[in-house]
Amino acid sequence: MSEPNLHPETLAIRAGRETSEFNEHSQALFLSSSFTYDNAADAAAMFLGEKEGYTYSRFSNPTVTAFQQRLAALEGGERAIATASGMAAIQGVMLTFLKAGDHIVSSQSLFGSTINLFSGLLTRFGVEVSFVSATDPEAWRAAIRPNTRLLFLETPSNPLTEISDIAALADLAHAHDALLVVDNCFCSPALQQPLRLGADLVVHSATKSLDGHGRVHGGAVVGNDALIEQIYLHVRTAGPTLSPFNAWVLLSGLETLFIRMERQCASALALAQWLETQPGVKRVFYPGLASHPQHALAMRQQSAGGTVVSFELEGGRDAAWRIYDACQVLSRTANLGDVKTTITHPASTTHARVTPEARAKAGIGEGLLRISVGLEHIDDLKQDLLRGLC
Ligand SMILES: *Cc1c(COP(=O)(O)O)cnc(C)c1O
Repeated sequence: MSEPNLHPETLAIRAGRETSEFNEHSQALFLSSSFTYDNAADAAAMFLGEKEGYTYSRFSNPTVTAFQQRLAALEGGERAIATASGMAAIQGVMLTFLKAGDHIVSSQSLFGSTINLFSGLLTRFGVEVSFVSATDPEAWRAAIRPNTRLLFLETPSNPLTEISDIAALADLAHAHDALLVVDNCFCSPALQQPLRLGADLVVHSATKSLDGHGRVHGGAVVGNDALIEQIYLHVRTAGPTLSPFNAWVLLSGLETLFIRMERQCASALALAQWLETQPGVKRVFYPGLASHPQHALAMRQQSAGGTVVSFELEGGRDAAWRIYDACQVLSRTANLGDVKTTITHPASTTHARVTPEARAKAGIGEGLLRISVGLEHIDDLKQDLLRGLC
């Protein structure tokens, strides 16, 4: 369904639908690894791609198609390809568009596994990676080489919520015939649509706010038909396909995306403002705060500050672990984007495998805590943090 006149809140509920002969009202779960053909000519046409239809769920599946269509509608993209996880989506983009001898420029402020994928797998396969500051357009420009194929960033970044200028970096990429790839995990399409700002591809960890309930892993890439077709051909061959069950769970997650994000962002802003007034808190990182260095840019690109608030404690690791260990409501877990508020100590968990030098370069100190704000009452969250804040 492509209905340009419908609002995003409506598309999150109504876009993308694959019905069976029964005309079921809710999206059906098609648990079938393969599909049958009416006759030999039909089978041949389908395998050659001359006839549309389902053959094998590693290639495509009706429930997965419904999720892809809905997410593409929300991001304002022509098409999406779903993957087994966010990392599978990022890996799929890299293996589709890069070869030995190519170069990419990447933000240095990234999800830990993404840093490891770039400095490990990509480097091992002969792709050079330059890591630059997310917020310094000059550093991006200076890092471009004749063999630069792709620019990659997350905005807001994990965990420091640094903001990159999507439109400016899209212009830079296109001036050098490179692709701009944006990880839109922290905002989701409810707050930010990078394709509309000039990005070529959006990647998602659907595991986070698209599901919103911490139930399943999933990922996706969204973009124009030509680019997604190339990634699709890679994914259907290499195999990191999204399971139909997970797509079915994610479709119900999308239905409440807007209302969840609206409330979670409001609570995150209130919590960030409150944390700024607490003794022992050195600095609060939240794009919705006027004190955030890229507040103006964030408010141009995003409709709200997001659900993730990070803060640095004067007392270093001891102070951070005291708060972390004292929590009785907040969940001690690395996940984010959940309706349950979660707390993370990045230096010892999500970014523990990143080298200390890379961690220092990315500004992730021992006193840093990251909170992904959920749907509990804000006063209960403050009360819980006060247990260890002293
Ligand atoms: C979680 C996350 C990923 C990886 O997603 P998985 O679904 O865990 O593979 C990528 N980018 C960001 C920003 C994330 O938070």
